[in-house]
Amino acid sequence: VISLDADVLVLGAGVIGLSTAVCLAEAGVSVVVAAADPPERTTSVAAGAIWGPHLVGMDERIDRWANVTLTSLARLSHPELGANELAGIVHRATGIAASRESDAPAPEFAATSSDLAPCAPGEVPPGYASAWRLTATTVAMPGYLGYLAGRFGRAGGKSAFPAKIGSLSDASRLAPSARVIVNCTGCGARDLVPDPDVVPVRGQVVVAANPGITEFFVGTSRDPGDLTYVFPHGDVVVLGGTEQRGNWRLDPDPATAERIVAACAAIEPALREAEVLEHRVGLRPARSRVRLEAERSGNVTIVHNYGHGGSGVTLSWGCAEDAAELALVALAGLP
Ligand SMILES: Cc1cc2nc3c(=O)[nH]c(=O)nc-3n(C[C@H](O)[C@H](O)[C@H](O)COP(=O)(O)OP(=O)(O)OC[C@H]3O[C@@H](n4cnc5c(N)ncnc54)[C@H](O)[C@@H]3O)c2cc1C
Repeated sequence: VISLDADVLVLGAGVIGLSTAVCLAEAGVSVVVAAADPPERTTSVAAGAIWGPHLVGMDERIDRWANVTLTSLARLSHPELGANELAGIVHRATGIAASRESDAPAPEFAATSSDLAPCAPGEVPPGYASAWRLTATTVAMPGYLGYLAGRFGRAGGKSAFPAKIGSLSDASRLAPSARVIVNCTGCGARDLVPDPDVVPVRGQVVVAANPGITEFFVGTSRDPGDLTYVFPHGDVVVLGGTEQRGNWRLDPDPATAERIVAACAAIEPALREAEVLEHRVGLRPARSRVRLEAERSGNVTIVHNYGHGGSGVTLSWGCAEDAAELALVALAGLP
């Protein structure tokens, strides 16, 4: 039986757990991250990813968390201010958001883009009835999670994988010295807490060699099963996708992968011959609203930070800062 020595135990090594752990470690707290799966096998690594709220319980907190995150991503990837290691990982890109319907409003994720403009009829991609051009922040998740893990380590943080926890009281036994446990377990929270409000929305993507695409594409329709996207990240391009509510399957479905490549090749013909490098599946932790709050359990404070649905990357820094603040208040013994 391993025993981890730290003031704070963060459960979960996805974008939410790692961002929260970075905030705490950089505040000078001793932190250990424990997770059933390492960063490279989480839902977070499967994300496209583009900044913009989508498939998340919208409430008054979302805008602020999303904007805090956007500012942080902009600062981190600024060529002079930020971390050079994020070059090509967090970047601003132009692209198209298209809809099968002619009367559809701009998709939710794009609505807050500062330069959103309707496409001229000749620019609307084949099979779509309306489209907008916009600039957005995109994130190559494998590299980004590697950056977060490295930054956490440099701040003195420790990690323990694999460590699957059956219950929150088991978590206390894993790290007996921890006075605060931060629960960033995504879909795992459904059984761990337990919290039946958490439901997986399965997403499958294909990673292919980039045949030279520089602009992203997101195509949606009223049918949530009809989702097509192309996110170029340097040498690779992430092709999606699916949104399958209640589906826990973690293995990639070959027929779905074929359908994804065909739908993306209809937009970008060069993708028809592109070499497939990898398949990824993630379970978006959907919930009626993000759970970010502290609760007392015996001598331990549990700070919950889960249920970010299709917006975990978009909300990551905003939620991490708030969760870290709740943990720091608990450590200081304040009410
Ligand atoms: C295909 C796809 C595309 C997406 N695109 C975007 C996008 O463009 N923009 C955006 O903002 N978001 C996007 N998302 C959503 C985003 O990926 C999620 O909201 C985010 O990854 C959730 O992060 P998380 O850290 O909460 O969960 P996860 O990444 O799932 O991490 C959970 C962690 O908890 C651990 N864990 C779980 N249960 C236990 C347990 N019992 N004991 C120990 N450890 C446990 C896991 O092992 C893991 O380390 C997308 C998701 C998918 C699948």
